[in-house]
Amino acid sequence: RSRRPVVTRFAPSPTGYLHIGGARTALFNYLFAKHHGGQFLMRIEDTDLERHNEAAVDAILQGMAWLGTPHDGQIVRQRERCGRHKEVAMELLKNGGAYKCYCSKEELEAMRQEAETQKVAFRYPGKCRRLPPDACPPAGRQPVVRIKTPEDEGCTSWKDGVMGLIEIPNKDVDDFIILRADETPTYLLAVVVDDHDMGVTQVIRGSDHIGNTARQIAVFQNMNWELPDFAHLPLIHGPDGKKLSKRHGATGLEEFEAKGYLPEAIRNYLARLSWSHGDDEIFSTKQAIEWFTLSACSRGAPCFDFDKLNGLNQHY
Ligand code: GLU
Repeated sequence: RSRRPVVTRFAPSPTGYLHIGGARTALFNYLFAKHHGGQFLMRIEDTDLERHNEAAVDAILQGMAWLGTPHDGQIVRQRERCGRHKEVAMELLKNGGAYKCYCSKEELEAMRQEAETQKVAFRYPGKCRRLPPDACPPAGRQPVVRIKTPEDEGCTSWKDGVMGLIEIPNKDVDDFIILRADETPTYLLAVVVDDHDMGVTQVIRGSDHIGNTARQIAVFQNMNWELPDFAHLPLIHGPDGKKLSKRHGATGLEEFEAKGYLPEAIRNYLARLSWSHGDDEIFSTKQAIEWFTLSACSRGAPCFDFDKLNGLNQHY
């Protein structure tokens, strides 16, 4: 592995305010980068035109400004990079790392039903991957582009900075779409191209992305690009034991602000949700930067209880 300068990034999808889970991801990327004297970059993943809204971008940036984890460099807007994403899809077609798929909706539906009768999860069976190079495509049908993922034997594995060795059986990873029929890139392609072009060396994100990581590794490998290191943080749960989401109990940073918490206290609190340094409970952000390591992050789901936190703090 080459020794590239450390670069991390926070890459939120602007679908709402910055909530406690996103803020923790941002903070850990910030702490890791600063610990290594590296760069902490910011990318707005705004390719989903239907769900995207500009007010959410402002809310996230305001949340970041309040939290006090400044990013380096210019903010990257994923939407503006579609041309580059498509270029990489074309390169993958050329180097044999991807192929055009002409399967119609009806054919895919039949495959899906077949999987259902056999009681197995649907995976694209790679029909068009096996088309002979001189096969005549159906007239007038605009193909999608699919990545070639590893053959079924074996696993895609990586040494996760937080979770340890992760092995995803290749039979669970199908040849997913990287370019739609309208030539727009999918999320899984865009993330890899952007991470590569931004020089990201360390990806730190929620464990809900573990399945995506196995897929994204296929894109890096088929492009012959150096892999970043990956680290997945356990998802934060609420007092009811269910994982937090924007729809379920994930407190927005502005609620901390409204209750009068200081950003430094919240940085301390967020760090302690998934990371520890000996018995230290209260530390400055400067100390957290100095002490931060991924190996001291916990694998188990932390619990966040806003009411309890407020109850504890009303005596001060
Ligand atoms: N945009 C994704 C999200 O908000 C994160 C992507 C990533 O960190 O790779 O969940």
